[in-house]
Amino acid sequence: MNAVTTAAAHAPQLNRTADFPILSRPLKGRRLVYLDNGATTQKPSAVIQAESQYYEQSNANIHRGVHWLSQHSTDLYEQGRESIRRLLNAGRPEEIVFTRGTTEAINLVAHSWGRANLKEGDEILITGMEHHSNIVPWQLLCEQTGARLRVVPVTDSGELDLDAYRALLGARTRLVGIVHISNALGTINPVAEMTRLAHEAGALVLVDGAQAVAHQVVDVQAIGCDFYTFSGHKLYGPTGIGALYARYDILKDMPPWQGGGDMIHTVSFERTTYADVPQRFEAGTPNIAGVIGLDAAIRYVCGIGLDNIAAHEHHLLDLATAQLSSLPGVRLIGTAADKAGILSFVVDGIHPHDLGTILDTEGVAIRAGHHCAMPLMTRFGIPGTARASLALYNTEDDVTALMAALRKAQKLFGTGQ
Ligand code: PMP
Repeated sequence: MNAVTTAAAHAPQLNRTADFPILSRPLKGRRLVYLDNGATTQKPSAVIQAESQYYEQSNANIHRGVHWLSQHSTDLYEQGRESIRRLLNAGRPEEIVFTRGTTEAINLVAHSWGRANLKEGDEILITGMEHHSNIVPWQLLCEQTGARLRVVPVTDSGELDLDAYRALLGARTRLVGIVHISNALGTINPVAEMTRLAHEAGALVLVDGAQAVAHQVVDVQAIGCDFYTFSGHKLYGPTGIGALYARYDILKDMPPWQGGGDMIHTVSFERTTYADVPQRFEAGTPNIAGVIGLDAAIRYVCGIGLDNIAAHEHHLLDLATAQLSSLPGVRLIGTAADKAGILSFVVDGIHPHDLGTILDTEGVAIRAGHHCAMPLMTRFGIPGTARASLALYNTEDDVTALMAALRKAQKLFGTGQ
């Protein structure tokens, strides 16, 4: 047992299901056991109410407004930025750019920083366990600039091969893209150490934190990374809102990537000058209500404490890992020493999609497929996995329900004996 596991075994369990209205709705006549949190999390009443209260009491377009409501709405929006700054321990609010989510944040960096800074012969180094959203934008950028994409291999246990990483880092490496926690394996990558090595080689580092921010404390200054991205909907917040953290000294020199209202200083037909950061990267009317909902979500998780959430989820992870491993015919994909609450597995004789469908009839919602990580599935020689992913509201009963449903599926298929 490692230190986290020992602590998790003794941690008091959270009991927060009542905060999430959807968890009390029956589904197909059964209690909903929601284990698809890697795809999106459910929303607590605090978030739902904050959004509807915003529309009932505070709705107006932000910035430039002279009337009270507009200024009030702007204050709430900027308060959301400050909330994210605190969540990530960024140095200043200007380092936080609102985006639609992780995907848009990575595309922003690729379009803006990438097109301005990369040239033929440069290299972008990503890892073999990236989500498609941290692969495809770089491929597009390589096509446009003549840069080359290189990939850090993944070991059989689902960890990054750090010797290979050191060997791949070189004078040509301009950017390293690393997923903080793999959505398909649960592996927690050593992003601080990897950032240190990348900086020694003169490269910038982007960390994809989509699966991290809801499950552990994230400190961008301690990691030392240049960019950090996340999505609100995986943090108990609304869909369509997320953020990019970018170090101020890098962000301030980045050119705009989308043009329009709110991102300019002056416009004439001859020449346009651009707003300071972060407004330069927030063209058009943003998702204001989304920011308000995300702010409420951040307050909610910080009120519980991310350390407490991590301990709770680790306890459930340990429990589920032990039980899954004891089921005949079940193989876990991703057994890294440092793991978050994601269980990816294959079951002999049952396609992951069939498994997902059978579990659904038992009221257990999991995800089945390639998890937007097709190269990783190819690495493991499988078309996909079944994936149960945990959140702060899951309970030991949910693990029991998952196991019972799995045994039932094996019985139906006549496997697992
Ligand atoms: N990266 C990782 C690791 C993810 O899990 C996801 C979502 N599954 C994304 C990026 C993309 O996030 P979004 O679709 O919210 O932009």
